[in-house]
Amino acid sequence: MKVTSVDIWDTSIELAANWQTWHPVMIRVNTDDGISGLGEVGLAYGSGHSGGAGYVKNLAEDFLIGADPMKIERLWETMFRRTFWAQGGGPVVFGAMSAIDIACWDIKGKALAQPVYQLMGGKTNEVLRTYASQIQFGWDKERFIGLTRPADFAEAARIAVADGYDAVKVDPATLDEDGRRLRDVNKIMNARTVRMVYDRVKAIREAVGPDVDILIELHSSPGVTSAIQLGHALEELGCMFFEEGVHYLSVALQDKVSRNVRIPMAAGERLYTRWGYRQYFEQQVLDMIQPDLCLVGGLTEGKKVCDYANVYDITVQLHVCGSPISTAAALQLEAAIPNFQIHEHHVNAIKRPNRELCVPDYQPTNGRFAISDLPGLGIELNDAAVAKHPHLVVT
Ligand code: MG
Repeated sequence: MKVTSVDIWDTSIELAANWQTWHPVMIRVNTDDGISGLGEVGLAYGSGHSGGAGYVKNLAEDFLIGADPMKIERLWETMFRRTFWAQGGGPVVFGAMSAIDIACWDIKGKALAQPVYQLMGGKTNEVLRTYASQIQFGWDKERFIGLTRPADFAEAARIAVADGYDAVKVDPATLDEDGRRLRDVNKIMNARTVRMVYDRVKAIREAVGPDVDILIELHSSPGVTSAIQLGHALEELGCMFFEEGVHYLSVALQDKVSRNVRIPMAAGERLYTRWGYRQYFEQQVLDMIQPDLCLVGGLTEGKKVCDYANVYDITVQLHVCGSPISTAAALQLEAAIPNFQIHEHHVNAIKRPNRELCVPDYQPTNGRFAISDLPGLGIELNDAAVAKHPHLVVT
């Protein structure tokens, strides 16, 4: 089998009228056998999607066209060793490599008529516990609502629990009381701001009771001191984990937060490959990792990182914040890995413009995801929805 062409869609999607544009980069790798595979660059949010799309184009031209997509490990190693940039790369380089790698696994699954989880060792998990992610923007299929009042955080959590979820994740430090972006989060935090954050999470706890898990997300916005301040304030509320208290450019920052806050620590969506995770594992500063398959190096590298985490009794919640392709890939790997903790279902993933990009539309029922038994990733593009977006073909 040989790769004959690669389609790349660098999308711009309005998820809701009042919201920022979203840019999942979706790719399809086509072969001379007539089998195609889907992949995604994990840069739907933040800045950089066009860089990721452009790097897929370069990798396709330099390494993929004419290659055998069944020889995935060889292709990964070639991209890692021979692009110059992967040996030190970040989200653009590893995002593009990830998209190609995931598409090759989809091809392999279809060629062998097996779901990817079978090729990854088979199921250790029959269903996947799932949480409602980012409820600071409400939990609504149509709208985003930037929450400010504790009562509104409580209501968003109640809506998610009524949907069947028994775990909700919130960034309680996104907006100030007036709905403006919270400023100076990275500096020593004043008592009023700490209390505002505490009151929001306390309101969620009171609304959902003691048995629903509350997951704290901070998006690497605090500094090490303010992260510890917030951690100390929230400790008594019994949260399941404390995510991205600090950024990743020095593991010493996470180490200080982890030693000072008595909440399990989670991070990883901005780490790439086994080498990126190595120090975090060896220093045992995390309790749960959150690799993004569309950034960490695809399914090939994602599986290795999850197994490496298991050596240190570290569990896994794959970071999922993209098109339905990213969800389908995550579900397949999470079915297989023994150290799976919980699946992330982002508030963007319940919005119609994202859901209609692919078929079928995988959604959880009662806070649990079933795992597709279809070959490969078990998902295809909705051609009509994808056709609206800029499209490049590499041959
Ligand atoms: Mg996160």
